Amino acid sequence: MNQLEKCHYIEGCSDVFIDAFRAFKHKTIDSRNAFILTHYHADHWCGLPRGKGYTGPAKIHCTPATAKLLKEIHQINDSFIVQHEYEVTWTHGRAEITFYDANHCPGAALLFCKVATENASSFVYHLHTGDMRFHQKFKSYPLIKEAVEKKQLDILYLDTTYAKPKHTFLPQDEAIHKIASEVKELLSSNDEIVSEKKQSFFQPKAKSHETPKATERTLVLLSCYSIGKEKVLWHSAVQSNQLVYVNKSKHKMLECIECSSHIEEANGIINRCTLNKQDSDLHVIQMGTAGSLHPYFQPNFEECALYAHRMNKGYSKVVAFIPTGWAESSNYNKKNARSAKAVNLKELIKGSKINGNHDVMQVEVRLCAYSEHSTYNELRDCVEFMKPKRIIPTVFSGEKDYIAIQKRFCDLLDSQRAKQAFISKLAGAFTIGVKRKVDASSVTEPNQERKNLAWKDIPLPPRKKSPIEGSFKRTDCKVTKKIQVPRQLRAPRPMIVDDWKVAQLVNMGFTSTVAADSLISKNNNLEMAIEWLLLRK
Ligand SMILES: [Zn+2]
Repeated sequence: MNQLEKCHYIEGCSDVFIDAFRAFKHKTIDSRNAFILTHYHADHWCGLPRGKGYTGPAKIHCTPATAKLLKEIHQINDSFIVQHEYEVTWTHGRAEITFYDANHCPGAALLFCKVATENASSFVYHLHTGDMRFHQKFKSYPLIKEAVEKKQLDILYLDTTYAKPKHTFLPQDEAIHKIASEVKELLSSNDEIVSEKKQSFFQPKAKSHETPKATERTLVLLSCYSIGKEKVLWHSAVQSNQLVYVNKSKHKMLECIECSSHIEEANGIINRCTLNKQDSDLHVIQMGTAGSLHPYFQPNFEECALYAHRMNKGYSKVVAFIPTGWAESSNYNKKNARSAKAVNLKELIKGSKINGNHDVMQVEVRLCAYSEHSTYNELRDCVEFMKPKRIIPTVFSGEKDYIAIQKRFCDLLDSQRAKQAFISKLAGAFTIGVKRKVDASSVTEPNQERKNLAWKDIPLPPRKKSPIEGSFKRTDCKVTKKIQVPRQLRAPRPMIVDDWKVAQLVNMGFTSTVAADSLISKNNNLEMAIEWLLLRK
């Protein structure tokens, strides 16, 4: 998740912060503030000190599974944690907040927020997705459904981890069952070895030509983060009738998520786990052990071979699975999704005695297109369904990427509502005869946002460049239609326009070309550009 402030608060709520222990660290010292932790992944809790390091007094609001992880793993004092069940609305200041299952890791929450305007005359509605994999069930979440039907949703803070068209991968259920059936197939030969051994112990030895020859014993490794991918573990274990070996810290985390009773896999996985490596041919390893993904997939055959060898269970083959959304993100990864190598153990462990019968370990590393984030097409489905006035991406690499993501979804926004809001606000300002002011809920300069949050205690730096500002070169736009500006209105054209202002206009539903041209023609004056764009219709 990006650490820019704009991803970590809900517009209109000056006292609610989301996954913001780094972005708004200084706000934790105010007991009037609420800190929401959407789920227990490091890039979301980052900045939150462990144990007694967190002294609040701001409370941390989260789901019961996340609360348990905060208490047991992060050692946060119970008095700072407030847990809320899914679908139960709670209130903080002017905000009514409801958590819904985000279909990410156990305990992950979407955050639906209804905010009363300052004079309490009306409400605005926002949805912060935290991290999520879009699922059709989101459409039936009552408050979201109602807001969508009434066309009320203002801002969608969207998990844009995979927001490029190249990010396509299998539907989640299909990916889970694909991995689980591959695991089952790989481990089925191990059963033959076990039954063969039993048979030879109790019965006279069968003649060699009558005995099915079990040639290899296989170890399967599944790469996982600290929490997440439990569905893959559960189905792999059930289908192959195996226990899953996990280390102590993973085991402790799985105990914490047992309370996620609505997810069978999360609730039951602990009963399928063992702390004894010898009890299982299916082991969970840390992400990164079997290979790295960036900048491109590089399997670590030797590490896998050593792991299997150290088990001393007669393994001659090890297959490591890496479930990730990056599996099909490049032709290179697609081509190398299954990589194999025969690792010479003798060469690898020079001078030390090789236990077991095998000098060579057959190693295979498989990239599997599985993710607990949405595919690009699922993100489009999500925005199309929600039909917000605006989206704010929460995962992006820089200002150019931020704007590029917004552009990719702008055709799905309810631009009509966005434009109407601007028109009525401008009209209101004209009526009372005051200098026009563009409302903060629609267009707000970054420093102004901070003023609106009543951060009187924070010295504001001079506005040199906003977090999403940069140089927007005219050459970046494909000019499809030349805008005719009356000669007398033409200002000398600068070569650079303000990216942040372009983004605001794109959010209103104008194309980036038109937005850039209008800003250029109005000397980067946003208000004049908006007025000109509205009046030219
Ligand atoms: Zn996450």
